[in-house]
Amino acid sequence: METQIIGRSRGWLSRAKEYIEAGEVVAFHTETVYGLGANAFSDEAVLKIFALKGRPADNPLIVHVHRDYDISPLIDGEPPYAAVLRRAFLPGPLTMVYPSTGKVSKYVSCGLNTLAIRVPSSPTAQEFLREVNLPIAAPSANLSKHVSPVTARHVFDDFNGKIPLILDGGACAGGIESTVLDCTGEVPQILREGLVTREMVASVAGDCGVYLRREGEKPKSPGMAYRHYSPRCATAYCRSADEANALYDGEKGRGGAPCILCGSGEMPALGGRESLDLGGTGEEMARRLYALLRKAEKTATLLIGIEPKERGGVMAGVMNRLLRAFGENHET
Ligand code: AMP
Ligand code: MG
Repeated sequence: METQIIGRSRGWLSRAKEYIEAGEVVAFHTETVYGLGANAFSDEAVLKIFALKGRPADNPLIVHVHRDYDISPLIDGEPPYAAVLRRAFLPGPLTMVYPSTGKVSKYVSCGLNTLAIRVPSSPTAQEFLREVNLPIAAPSANLSKHVSPVTARHVFDDFNGKIPLILDGGACAGGIESTVLDCTGEVPQILREGLVTREMVASVAGDCGVYLRREGEKPKSPGMAYRHYSPRCATAYCRSADEANALYDGEKGRGGAPCILCGSGEMPALGGRESLDLGGTGEEMARRLYALLRKAEKTATLLIGIEPKERGGVMAGVMNRLLRAFGENHET
């Protein structure tokens, strides 16, 4: 199969629609990361996503719909705070988890009685979803465990020859996956941190919890139990520039090609060593992180991360991805 990357052009969406209706998988731009989408009503199409990614069978998918799609047949009720949050943040990088009516393929939720729904704001995603007018099950368009894709080229690198089409909407402005918010309880609870922060949710809903898995407990958000976002090179994680520089010099001395990944604030302390600049704010770090991990894995023999000092807001999501990319914070 030839994989085509197509941008806005005549007939691009009707081609995507034909593939989706034929049960194929199509990758598309969103404002967070690229998604690998299929008709959520079709068992066969949904199972193709798992097979293509090598995704564990217990890691559920998020269903994507356009802004005017009526989700009421898919969900079994909605607490008042969820309706308020929808109006405040959608379309946007917020996934909401509801009790499911079981109308979509059972493989979407992997046996959970809930359904995760997202209304992306990217024009490419909105136009594609409107064209197909179906709920589209879509995880990030990367091979399982690999770094999420933030350009069409990243998707191509993982799925060339495996999927027919990538809808190119340019680089993803958000850069990390959506916030996943459980809307089945009294109070909304964050299952995965992202660009819509706890503070933002609480400011609208009055309150917002953050789910912390207790030891031995089955995770509420199964994907969070897996090692994730890993570049395909050796990695090391440091708390200071001095520590990173020492590791760097050791690797260099052994004839390797080390590289340091850190926030702009650390750059002056690296003494000209090979480095990648994550930026100075949480938003910048979110936008750059995955592209830099994918860049580093192409040439570095050892990628050395330095823990950013910034905290608050989007940094919760950035730190989660960074720690998991460096193998510091995964549970299996
Ligand atoms: P991905 O799209 O690859 O970022 O993965 C989607 C993530 O959303 C999964 O790994 C889960 O953690 C989360 N998710 C999807 N559906 C549900 C659900 N029904 N309940 C809780 N979390 C979910
Ligand atoms: Mg993913």
